[in-house]
Amino acid sequence: MNQNNQLQDEITKELLTIKQDIELKVPEFIRQGCLELKVDQISTQKKQDIIKCLGGIKYKQDKQFIPKLTECLLSHLLRMKKCSLQSTNINPTRPIYLGQLITITMFYYEDKIIKSYSILEELTKFINKQIHIYYEGIRDRLKLIKDKEQQLLNQLRNSQSNNDKQNETQQDVNFLKCYCHSQPGLYVQIKAKLNTSKVLQCKICSQNFHGFCLQINHDIQDFICPYCTLVMLNPQNKVIDQIVQSTFQQFLQFKNEKHFLFNCPVKHKGSQIEIRCLRIDGKDGLNEITWPDYGELQMNGVKLAEFKPLSINYSVKKRKDDSINITNHIKHNEQNRITLIEYKSNEELKKQFRIQHQCIYFIGIFSINQLNAKEFLLDIKQYHKNYLSIEDSFKLFKQECSTNKDVKIKSIKISLLCPITLQLINIPARGRFCNHLQCFDLENFITAIDDQRDKKIWKCPICKLKCFKFLIDDYQQVILELISENSLSNKEVEFNENGEISDLVLRELCNQRLKNQYQMNDRIKKQIKTD
Ligand SMILES: [Zn+2]
Ligand SMILES: [Zn+2]
Ligand SMILES: [Zn+2]
Repeated sequence: MNQNNQLQDEITKELLTIKQDIELKVPEFIRQGCLELKVDQISTQKKQDIIKCLGGIKYKQDKQFIPKLTECLLSHLLRMKKCSLQSTNINPTRPIYLGQLITITMFYYEDKIIKSYSILEELTKFINKQIHIYYEGIRDRLKLIKDKEQQLLNQLRNSQSNNDKQNETQQDVNFLKCYCHSQPGLYVQIKAKLNTSKVLQCKICSQNFHGFCLQINHDIQDFICPYCTLVMLNPQNKVIDQIVQSTFQQFLQFKNEKHFLFNCPVKHKGSQIEIRCLRIDGKDGLNEITWPDYGELQMNGVKLAEFKPLSINYSVKKRKDDSINITNHIKHNEQNRITLIEYKSNEELKKQFRIQHQCIYFIGIFSINQLNAKEFLLDIKQYHKNYLSIEDSFKLFKQECSTNKDVKIKSIKISLLCPITLQLINIPARGRFCNHLQCFDLENFITAIDDQRDKKIWKCPICKLKCFKFLIDDYQQVILELISENSLSNKEVEFNENGEISDLVLRELCNQRLKNQYQMNDRIKKQIKTD
């Protein structure tokens, strides 16, 4: 425990030094901003109004304006910051981790007074920008703090799990990617609630997440975590690399900007760069790109997108959001800055528009390869992992028979027609999470999705589960090939309770083909052994 305290002290001390340093610089930032924004050029009357509005007293000479403005604006901003921090558990004089320090040092500019004079808003934004530049200048120091925070987090986790029961430790480790571990101290704060929370396990990465943390109370059959969802969202835009590690981000009442600073290595030149964002709102936000209802996205100071809320009266309940391609705005081998802003709204606006506020978002930046339908199909077909072997397919049939034991089914019938085109299937496939034997034609499926004009929805046409990883069924492939080679007219295939094909002609052909194939495989295996 002593060790933890010492580490926390070190972190706090370093944070306080930075905090004081920034506080000393802010008046200078205001003066710089005044110069840059040519504040001096506004009318004398307006100058007086602004000072009055900020609670300052009348001044006599024009040259007193800027010092006066600096003084009044600063005390106003500090007052507003104090107010906004009241509803949080942040102590403005003693930040305990880096995230808190940033919250404490940045200024909030969405209050009425600042909003009523665009020059004040610009000025506040300018100060915030300077503070950011300052932070960028001390990246190495910040990295050291981050490392220490991580160390502290690990130590806390260790000491905690030593105290807790063994199985609880086990649980904890499986939740490391969950929101509760995304901010130092948060896990401990909400631990009591987590103990009773529903547990969701990601079908792709097998990591556990708390229903409580993701605001999900209902059972989800095909739960896919935010990390995997962001990567898999549109498999045709195949992720090659993560440029910025995906993270949870929450807009707070007083800090409605999120900044991402990153370098994009030259090796990504030529590939597309995309930013993706999910809203954690317990609804379908986890399944699709959702940007803030009301806000904007900037990159290197250029507004790339504006998010406008839908009218309450509008019949469409959800805006169709998509990932944002930032390729043309990337500076390679230079620092890039992405700013996501959630505009403030008031009760009046909320009555008219669908606006959700202060939600948690999950954001990542990726380099991707845009594949057309043909390339995507080839991409799937080239990987061994995308095939279900004949043996595994047999197992699946057996399973299907045994799970239906009570009903005592004599046979299973499977249509060989694609549910999309009603033509004979060419490449029989299912989604990775599908629980049915029935296949669709992979090429038809991909073409159908490729033809969707707006956002593409990757769901199995048969069971409607998420479908962006596929399994091509080797067994059904063989059957389909035999039908075509022998010009048979079968449109479906029936299997008896032993998993054998009922149709005698087809069964004979199939047995022959499989025997040949196994012999071939055996020969190959023997060759490998003797070599
Ligand atoms: Zn959690
Ligand atoms: Zn996952
Ligand atoms: Zn399915």
